[in-house]
Amino acid sequence: MAETHDCDVAIVGGGLAGSLIALALAEQRPDLSLRLIETGEAIGGNRLWSFRDADVAREDRWLLTPLVGYAWPEQEIAFPAHVRVLRQPCYAIESARLDQVVRAHLSETAVLTGRKVQSVTATGVAFVEGGRIAAKGVIDARGAGDLSALDLGWRKFVGRELEVPGGHGVERPLTMDAMVTQHDGFRFVSCLPLSPARLFVTDNYYSDNAHVNAGALGRRIEAYAANRGWQVSEVAREERGALPLAMGGDFAACWRAGGARVAKAGLRAACFHPAMGQSFADAVRLAVKIAAADDLSGEALHALTHDHARALWDERRFYRQFAALLFRAADPDARYRVMEYLYRQPPGAISRFLSMRSTFSDKARMLRGHPPVPFWRAMTVARRTE
Ligand SMILES: Cc1cc2nc3c(=O)[nH]c(=O)nc-3n(C[C@H](O)[C@H](O)[C@H](O)COP(=O)(O)OP(=O)(O)OC[C@H]3O[C@@H](n4cnc5c(N)ncnc54)[C@H](O)[C@@H]3O)c2cc1C
Repeated sequence: MAETHDCDVAIVGGGLAGSLIALALAEQRPDLSLRLIETGEAIGGNRLWSFRDADVAREDRWLLTPLVGYAWPEQEIAFPAHVRVLRQPCYAIESARLDQVVRAHLSETAVLTGRKVQSVTATGVAFVEGGRIAAKGVIDARGAGDLSALDLGWRKFVGRELEVPGGHGVERPLTMDAMVTQHDGFRFVSCLPLSPARLFVTDNYYSDNAHVNAGALGRRIEAYAANRGWQVSEVAREERGALPLAMGGDFAACWRAGGARVAKAGLRAACFHPAMGQSFADAVRLAVKIAAADDLSGEALHALTHDHARALWDERRFYRQFAALLFRAADPDARYRVMEYLYRQPPGAISRFLSMRSTFSDKARMLRGHPPVPFWRAMTVARRTE
């Protein structure tokens, strides 16, 4: 049956970006009527998001306080030529917790799950099953849209939460274990200890394609666990994904492809780390920015999100060049050397690279230090990167 709602802001997509915007608005602008519309039955889907202390500005952390489920003071990385402990705190948030917190902070009528949206405009949402919502402003946060205008590589992975009753012995996150046999581009495993007997293990690939062979990756996780001597009693949860990595492309065309005059957030707005694929930090920044905006009309939200995403795209050329070094200047089986080179930089420079806050001298040091790729291929790649 057709139905009509009226609200101030309708957010389409109850994933990471949409939920954080809804939470930020509920906290900072309790006077507003909101709708958060998600096609799945749960807000946030089935994910564990990790991020580092340095990724989120101190003044934005209030948004994450009710969400954080895990915290670690340091992390480790391991490459064939060096192993390092980085004293950089990191955290993780479970999607189940995001679902709980969103439902606790928003009114029952504001959260619409199990509702698939057919189309969005700057001020309206139409559902597949019929019915519309009219809003003063609409934000499209439905995850990645048409990214064909961008020049992409992929970071694909399968992650499993393993129950190891006898204990796994992993004390700190091993965020990049590249000591594993290389396949399909640069491969690494990461391990997050969730409790003494619970471990989240992901098998990751910097690949030319987005195809995730979940069976093969799952078997490699089993082999990795066996190799570490873990007696796994249960796989409690599994997630998988293919994150875009950008070497270049036409931002304006990408934005237009997602609906020219509609506000966008998250992957839909092409906001992600071009070389690492994460978008957590960007989602927090944009949510806080939207909650502080005076004008939340469709037109103003479009201008705000477009200008924000455009500025990020423009200032991230260095990270697109790094992605191009990985994908274009290095052969697939030599990609790990480029990443190893990054992780040989001073800890502060690594941290700023991951947070996309590299200084001029960080960039100069990395380029002066001769990345481990053929010089002429590196020069060609650097010239071509948009
Ligand atoms: C498994 C996985 C793990 C990740 N882990 C990390 C991490 O640890 N750290 C990090 O920084 N990044 C991580 N990423 C990358 C990135 O942060 C996530 O993809 C993030 O969830 C992107 O946020 P988003 O809101 O743009 O998209 P999503 O979180 O995917 O949200 C989009 C939402 O829109 C909904 N939707 C889509 N179409 C419709 C429709 N027609 N109608 C209604 N709803 C719709 C979807 O169901 C979904 O819930 C991960 C990605 C994946 C896939």
